[in-house]
Amino acid sequence: MDNTESIWRLVDAKRGGFEALSDRVWGMPELAYTETRSCAEHTAMLREQGFRVTEKVAGIPTAVMGEAGEGGPVIAILGEYDALPGLSQEAGVAEPRPLPGPGFGHGCGHNLLGSASLLAATAVKEWLAENKLPGRVRYYGCPAEEGGAAKGFMVRDGAFKDVDVAISWHPAAFAAVQEAVSLANTRIDFSFVGRASHAAAAPHLGRSALDAVELMNVGVNYMREHMPSDARIHYAYLDAGGVAPNVVQPTAKVRYLIRARDLVELRRLIERVRKVADGAALMTETKVSSKVVSGVSNLLGNAPLERAMQNNLDRLGPPPFDDLDRARAAEFQATLTEEDIAASWRRIGLPMRKGVALCDVVVPLEVRGAPMMGSTDVGDVSWVVPTVQARGSTYAIGTPGHSWQLTAQGKLPAAHKGMVHVAKVMAGTAVDCLRDPALIEAAKADLAARTAANPYEPVLSPDVQPPLDMSVTAA
Ligand SMILES: [Zn+2]
Repeated sequence: MDNTESIWRLVDAKRGGFEALSDRVWGMPELAYTETRSCAEHTAMLREQGFRVTEKVAGIPTAVMGEAGEGGPVIAILGEYDALPGLSQEAGVAEPRPLPGPGFGHGCGHNLLGSASLLAATAVKEWLAENKLPGRVRYYGCPAEEGGAAKGFMVRDGAFKDVDVAISWHPAAFAAVQEAVSLANTRIDFSFVGRASHAAAAPHLGRSALDAVELMNVGVNYMREHMPSDARIHYAYLDAGGVAPNVVQPTAKVRYLIRARDLVELRRLIERVRKVADGAALMTETKVSSKVVSGVSNLLGNAPLERAMQNNLDRLGPPPFDDLDRARAAEFQATLTEEDIAASWRRIGLPMRKGVALCDVVVPLEVRGAPMMGSTDVGDVSWVVPTVQARGSTYAIGTPGHSWQLTAQGKLPAAHKGMVHVAKVMAGTAVDCLRDPALIEAAKADLAARTAANPYEPVLSPDVQPPLDMSVTAA
């Protein structure tokens, strides 16, 4: 039995407790920065497995880190456990059926994300002890991936400064190495202040902050034609100035989410949006101020680590789904459109095969899909530590991200099999690094080459604090 097989055996030996952990976190969905119970579950599991625990990493109440082993290289495995608003759903039911309560749900599968990463870290801990090798493994329980950019704040606080390699994953339809395509982004709140007055009796005395927001949005919407085609801008009103149409709105606030291919392009776009905001204030004789809420960097790939991870995937093969898993997945596929399913195949870069409900292949490394236009706070980690991520196959092909169908599939046997499978992929990659210092050196050289021309300049300036109250406004 070689070392890789022994690490997979260690994952299997521990799986039961971590499937149960995932199910418990699924049952207590909590929004960004309020994951108190979920984080407590992960902290308790770290202690139970014998990790040395650091709570409140970077001063964030729901961030936790556990370390095991001595000396040697440091391998970080990153997990998440935040849920989403509006995606409550009964488990295993293939029709929309929200549960009573605040309406939160694990519509991005982060219950699995955290548990599989902690399972992988635990198996690596056991492997280090069995083999009496120097080396440390850490599990980072990272909150608020959904819009809170917690990892960016953790990077800024130095939480990863002595880490040699970072490994993570995300639930997906297909088993693959994650392509390093994601957008840098930032959330900025623009607040306008004008002057209230009677909208009929003294309109000339009022200066409308609501007008200013509307003009800002018009300006930005005209700008769209003249920005890079892979950039994205979205906005939401946080304060429309009140409910009385006969009062000129003295305040108004809009949250902008600006995304671009990389940090350089993002900075350019932020400058232009700020000019539009200033223009709107000038036109309406209001005052504008702004506050950066969060920001993440684009992801950097790492070729040596991607090859190592693919090698683990190729030797493992696809997750061991059975006919019952496929039948359950087909029930969920029946709620999707043909377009949903085609998009899932296109995203991964494989020709569509009709009637295939669950992943039955390992996607080759050279297959390139349609880029994913989202963002992730793993991006910031990838600029300071060589980072690699897997896609773990945990749900029916075609399931849209952030959907009730995704929440519903989060506790099925297929989800458990997918999370154990990806834990093996991550643990195997970690063991490859621990056994081969040359792999870590190659990964570091790859990162140095990617950042040589554009060193890391985080979107988050030193004065921006983690938006711990963001879920209060979101919910
Ligand atoms: Zn997610």
